[in-house]
Amino acid sequence: MQSETFDHVVIGSGLAGLTYALRSATRGERVCVLTKGQLTDSNTSWAQGGIAAAVGEADSWELHEQDTMVAGAGINDEDAVRHLVQNAPEAIEWLIQIGAHFDGDGSHLSLGREGGHSRNRIVHHADNTGWEIERAVSEAVRANNLITILPFSFVTQLLIEEGRCIGAVAMVNGVGFRAYLAPNTVLATGGAGKVYQHTTNPNVATADGIALAAEAGCKIENMEFMQFHPTTLYHPQLRSSLISEAVRGAGATLRNHQGRRFMYDYDSRLELAPRDVVARSIHFEMQRLKTWCVYLDTTHLNPEKLRAEFPTINATLLEAGIDFTKDWIPVVPAQHYSCGGVVTDLEGRTSVPGLLAAGEVTCTGVHGGNRLASNSLLEAIVFAMSAADAAESEPKPILRQEPKQAQCVSESDAVRIRHTLQRTMTNNVGIFRTFAGLNEALKSIDQLDAELARLPEAPFSTYARETVHLLTAARYIVEGALARKENVGLHYNADLV
Ligand SMILES: Cc1cc2nc3c(=O)[nH]c(=O)nc-3n(C[C@H](O)[C@H](O)[C@H](O)COP(=O)(O)OP(=O)(O)OC[C@H]3O[C@@H](n4cnc5c(N)ncnc54)[C@H](O)[C@@H]3O)c2cc1C
Repeated sequence: MQSETFDHVVIGSGLAGLTYALRSATRGERVCVLTKGQLTDSNTSWAQGGIAAAVGEADSWELHEQDTMVAGAGINDEDAVRHLVQNAPEAIEWLIQIGAHFDGDGSHLSLGREGGHSRNRIVHHADNTGWEIERAVSEAVRANNLITILPFSFVTQLLIEEGRCIGAVAMVNGVGFRAYLAPNTVLATGGAGKVYQHTTNPNVATADGIALAAEAGCKIENMEFMQFHPTTLYHPQLRSSLISEAVRGAGATLRNHQGRRFMYDYDSRLELAPRDVVARSIHFEMQRLKTWCVYLDTTHLNPEKLRAEFPTINATLLEAGIDFTKDWIPVVPAQHYSCGGVVTDLEGRTSVPGLLAAGEVTCTGVHGGNRLASNSLLEAIVFAMSAADAAESEPKPILRQEPKQAQCVSESDAVRIRHTLQRTMTNNVGIFRTFAGLNEALKSIDQLDAELARLPEAPFSTYARETVHLLTAARYIVEGALARKENVGLHYNADLV
């Protein structure tokens, strides 16, 4: 197999991967970024609400820390949380320096408020903050001649020799496998949304990093803490578009089909209770009234302000025939964020030497049982920077063994297996869980794994490999949920009440 050697191999081109690449390049080091789609295909590009940082006058990192711990049900890693919140203002400054634009009047940033935050601290760019950030980091990466970008390079395997990660194998442009070697390999592959039928995540979120890390022998934790966004558009044809928490922050209320503002029945913080509380309340309300969705009501808010603050949401809704200045928006919860993942220390080190990880693929301990809104873009920057600073200057590795090639089943078999898995996970391992449902899901995953092993081999297919990765991640989610003996954070098992 042909190989190429760099100082760093970065897998993924969302905020975590590109931050790491830029930081390493400032030291004059050569970085290769492997990414399975276009450079900007990522969860990062879809982020709406913003990025949290205690930069307001009445705010402090101590308050941000407290809010993060409360949202995480107190099972967060305190050192990781402190590292996150203390470095937040610097992360915002860095983004501005590299060219990201945020709302404000020049000298002051305009700070939004989201559920679980005790202060206004959400730095944002209208309702498409993620796209603006991804635009800025990807332009900076493109302009840097120390960074080689390889789009449409799907990583199938991490290379481990004598217990150390020395790089990765990728299928490049669908035409052949190549090895990319470096003393430091960084997993920045993002989320696992596609384990479920309904998710706000784009198609690239197929838990590849979880499966690659598991195969390499890394520790994976907290996968049962799967965050469901309470308010995504309910529409039979359109994808589960997010109706940002910032809309509730601006005063939107939740109503059932009878018009009742039902959050009064569930939590005194009403629509601004933490996400898990709001998502569960919607789930119960839909079950109680046997309806497919509930409604977000923005019709009492200033129409000009609404359109100006949420232009992307407005455009999506108009496409669906909904004018949110006049109509209620039908919403349901959908998978949104994976709080668990590959265990790292404060400097992004995994349990395998030479392998670092940053961003949504990780379990840094920051989120505990539940992520506080707008802490994930922040985590991606802060921990990617620390990982880049901690990277080792080991001698350049050499490929001694020919890597084995990834095996695949046919795409039609993969489609069937993926859909069965997504249905099982949605029905049994969603917001509301029971032991019977979790055992049912585990049985189904065992059967699907056995089927994969039996099916004839077919030519390489990204879709088929992703499906194998989804199965691996699903097993971690279910086993984590079965092992948890109390309801905490996002994990809710009705048999434990
Ligand atoms: C709709 C939506 C709204 C959100 N809103 C907010 C918000 O307002 N505030 C906030 O803080 N967070 C928000 N989030 C969460 C946040 O966007 C993500 O957690 C964060 O962007 C993750 O960054 P990342 O770099 O870890 O991963 P990503 O941005 O997902 O990047 C992962 C990269 O890895 C690549 N990749 C994956 N597998 C492979 C492979 N096998 N080979 C090669 N490349 C691979 C992908 O193509 C992609 O480029 C939102 C998420 C969504 C989906």
